[in-house]
Amino acid sequence: MHVKKITIRNFKSFGKKVEIPLERGFTVISGPNGSGKSNIIDAILFCLGLHSSSKVLRAEKLTDLVFSGNGKRSDSAEVELVFQTDGDELVISRKIKVTDRNYYSHYYINGKPASHGEVVKILEKHGIFSDAYNVVMQGDVTRIVEMTPVQRRKIIDDIAGISEFEEKKAKAIEE
Ligand code: ATP
Ligand code: MG
Repeated sequence: MHVKKITIRNFKSFGKKVEIPLERGFTVISGPNGSGKSNIIDAILFCLGLHSSSKVLRAEKLTDLVFSGNGKRSDSAEVELVFQTDGDELVISRKIKVTDRNYYSHYYINGKPASHGEVVKILEKHGIFSDAYNVVMQGDVTRIVEMTPVQRRKIIDDIAGISEFEEKKAKAIEE
């Protein structure tokens, strides 16, 4: 499965609709500092709900993700991801709407409203687990280099799917 297209509307620095087509394989996004490269990654994490808090998306609160610039502030932001799976297209999107005193966040799977749990489930079905290293953030590389070998081994075990069996083994021995 690969991401075929990212559509961003009023998310962070993207004050209008931006469509980013992606080819299969390796993609590099380049640009000057502050031009919005990392915001594209934040958009992906936001759309899939792969963030434990808004801090992961470098925002104080979720509503700070909505575009605000040139004296204009949008009242909603939206990110849509089109995945190419084995045979089909899978479209996941998330919209955040800001009202005077509150905000609403909605997920959609193939255009139909869905819960975050349903998004998590469909991603897991395609091998994307929320606690795995799907995204290596700026600073992560330095952190990984500075870890102890045992901590680093734990990450490799997680990626390789060994941790799951280690946990089962420990449980079985206990019993
Ligand atoms: P670097 O090369 O330094 O890593 P980058 O290309 O990754 O830069 P980003 O971090 O993606 O840049 O973008 C930062 C910019 O996004 C800042 O200029 C910031 O003001 C802008 N930004 C963040 N949130 C919003 C928002 N809600 N509305 C408008 N602009 C925003
Ligand atoms: Mg960056």
